[in-house]
Amino acid sequence: MKKKTLALAVVLAATWGATAQAQDQVLNLYSARHYSTDEALYNDFTKATGIKINRVDADDAGIIARLKAEGSASPADVILLVDAARLWRGEQDGLFLPVKSKLLGDAIPTSLRASPAADGGTAWYGFSTRARVVVYDKAKVQPADVDTYEELADAKNKGKLCIRTGTHPYNLSLFSAVTEHLGAQKAEAWLKGLVANMARAPKGGDTDQIRGVASGECQIAVTNSYYLARLMRSDKPEDRAVAEKVGVVFPNQSSWGTHVNIAGAAVARHSKNVDNAVKFLEYLASPSAQNHFANGNNEWPVAKGVATDNPALKAMTPDGQFKSDAIPVSVLGANQLKVQQMLDRVGFK
Ligand code: FE
Repeated sequence: MKKKTLALAVVLAATWGATAQAQDQVLNLYSARHYSTDEALYNDFTKATGIKINRVDADDAGIIARLKAEGSASPADVILLVDAARLWRGEQDGLFLPVKSKLLGDAIPTSLRASPAADGGTAWYGFSTRARVVVYDKAKVQPADVDTYEELADAKNKGKLCIRTGTHPYNLSLFSAVTEHLGAQKAEAWLKGLVANMARAPKGGDTDQIRGVASGECQIAVTNSYYLARLMRSDKPEDRAVAEKVGVVFPNQSSWGTHVNIAGAAVARHSKNVDNAVKFLEYLASPSAQNHFANGNNEWPVAKGVATDNPALKAMTPDGQFKSDAIPVSVLGANQLKVQQMLDRVGFK
């Protein structure tokens, strides 16, 4: 009898153990990726590992504010952000747990991840890139007049430019890169030139700027590459008609290269599922996840040895290749306060 009870206890303990383990197989993801095509990316991870993903969606600023408010009680395991400067900010604020992973160290280029932390770990990694490109009205604008960022501020382009608000992370990071290359004084004069050249006050997202060119409200616009690729590959003929009206330029090919930003990820400082979190980051560097970035949201894969055959990305440049700015994306955060102050001074809303 005693033996039987003991056996039952062992069985129960084993069952409880299994249940507890099953409950542990979760990953709490705070994501600023606002792309519906990412569902397949998350589902594949769950299929491969059995780890269930609980997702909280917000924008970059909202996620950082939430992590700060939650402190050590935060349930977050992995943070996905869509801007290098915000990842840098999160790192500065101590919100991330630096990771040591040989797989990630080998796969992700050093210019697309955080500088090594004191313990040798890495606070965040870029998993895809997006170029900040110029689109123009093919009927009215010569590409040679918009093939550098500098020319967007030239008097010859007066009244032609559409661009989203200056304080959006995509623009802040572009302006930080320009500041890095031109110096603060020239960068501020450049921003002033952009304001002088605007066809309308900044409003809407990047896609709205492309549509503004197609509708004739403006002749030149600044956008992330994937928004244009999305229109090119859209099921809706009216979207494809918008894409057909505009040309695209990857600026500064004969100088410092086109500005690229990253979408990246970090393990949360107070993660309770660190092993799962690292597993997820390593999964994001896998060829299958990298292809989801490339074919789902039209971003460039970054992991070594992964190429893309996305037709829209290939169509944007003559050979599917372009020269991207070589500065480490980790420097984009450091200039942002300076840039914000410049924007105030030049009246860039
Ligand atoms: Fe976006």
